Amino acid sequence: MVQCQRTRLYLRDSEQVADDTWRCPHCPEHEEYVRVADPGPLEAVSDAVVAARAEFERPDDGIPTVAWLGTTPETVYEAGLDTYHVYLTREANPLQVRYQAAHEAVHRVCGPPNTHHWTRELLAVMFSLRYLRWIGLASYAAAIEAGLQVEAGRLPLSVLLREPERTSRDGIYGQVFVLGSTLEAIVGWPRLRALADAEDRWGRPHPEGWLRSLPPDQQLEARVVLAVEASAT
Ligand SMILES: [Zn+2]
Ligand SMILES: [Zn+2]
Repeated sequence: MVQCQRTRLYLRDSEQVADDTWRCPHCPEHEEYVRVADPGPLEAVSDAVVAARAEFERPDDGIPTVAWLGTTPETVYEAGLDTYHVYLTREANPLQVRYQAAHEAVHRVCGPPNTHHWTRELLAVMFSLRYLRWIGLASYAAAIEAGLQVEAGRLPLSVLLREPERTSRDGIYGQVFVLGSTLEAIVGWPRLRALADAEDRWGRPHPEGWLRSLPPDQQLEARVVLAVEASAT
């Protein structure tokens, strides 16, 4: 059982058109969702999940991860199935599969499940670029970064911070890349990575808690970067 990424409606057994393929009855395009069986994308996802678990020090939770080719890269925790569905795009080439898999691996591993927050996008973008370099794709990572720099201009930092959970918007990946690079220059990757651990009492991402965990001088500098939120509202 898989959901249509546009309507969020489930595709039933009767919509299965081949072994691993479901066709959407809800959208005019009748787009297809394909459960990934190819070793390439499958290994890209599992390898990235293992790397993210190591990097963010998250033990294996034992919950299955199933990869799909769909409309847009996304990670959905299906509570009814107790399974994570990681979607990659249908037309992704092998390099894009690696990048998308690494990004989604952070959502898969760091959670919280089905949570949208700029801190998660920042960690996903920063981790995936590091991951590409680890697996020998440095020039591809550099090309992505150049694109992200340009993209950042489309979403002001103040707007990103003001609406922290509105993550599906134009320019967000560029803006979190620029913000992530700026913060990493101040605190270093190991402390930036710890942004994944900061949560409030309800278990939601909590950048303020992360700021408080920093050494005073770094905290001051990082607050100046993030103060645009206060000054712009
Ligand atoms: Zn659909
Ligand atoms: Zn993401």
